[in-house]
Amino acid sequence: MNTTTTTKRAEELRRNLNSVRARMAKACGRAGRREDDVLLLAVSKFHPAGDVAALAQAGQRHFGESYAQEALAKQAELVDQDILWHFIGGLQTKKAKAVAGRFALIHSLDSEKLARELFKRAKEALILQPVLIEVNMGEEQKAGVDESDLISLAELTASLKERGCGLDLRGLMCLPPVFDSPEEARPAFAYLRELRDDLAARLGAPLPELSMGMTGDFEAAIEEGATIIRVGTSLFGPRPAR
Ligand SMILES: *Cc1c(COP(=O)(O)O)cnc(C)c1O
Repeated sequence: MNTTTTTKRAEELRRNLNSVRARMAKACGRAGRREDDVLLLAVSKFHPAGDVAALAQAGQRHFGESYAQEALAKQAELVDQDILWHFIGGLQTKKAKAVAGRFALIHSLDSEKLARELFKRAKEALILQPVLIEVNMGEEQKAGVDESDLISLAELTASLKERGCGLDLRGLMCLPPVFDSPEEARPAFAYLRELRDDLAARLGAPLPELSMGMTGDFEAAIEEGATIIRVGTSLFGPRPAR
């Protein structure tokens, strides 16, 4: 990978960042929320490390990746940058070892098997790994745990902690279908918040994070309580083919 980026591209990325930030600020204003209550996660999958470096130099700190191999390669290339990495893609159990401890937050915990494997790896590494549970929000979606299994997975995850090591359940994530209008995604966002509120009461834990909203619908997500929005296309432009 080439980490150099033209000045023109760097300027374009900076402009995109400013425009997404401005849209976030407006959505926060409409919802009566503080701007720093919503974290912008720049989704850099398929984009070159040079673009990530340029956006980091423009002030963006959190980056999300969906594929373990690609993510680890970019981390290695960008060790000098002040970046916090998030893992947002489907995670196979056999990749848990490579991922545990290398991401500030894993958004895509979706099975008991994966929870147990991440726990094992976090214990070995003597770390507390922050995680979100991804909830399946529609029949046509294959990612995420079914709502009927959410409580048992959350109870298990919350119990997977030993002497300060293991899993730290921080909240929920969803990836609703991409609709023509962001308003169509709004009920899914409101529903994820309700699920979180019920679960937090049940577990007696705050579960502060709601990871929801992407390029097409992040404003609606902010209005419905998102604390992390995951934005790729509005920041980097269309994803190149791999
Ligand atoms: C790719 C991806 C995004 C970003 O999507 P955009 O529409 O480009 O903003 C967000 N979340 C997940 C889980 C993704 O895989």
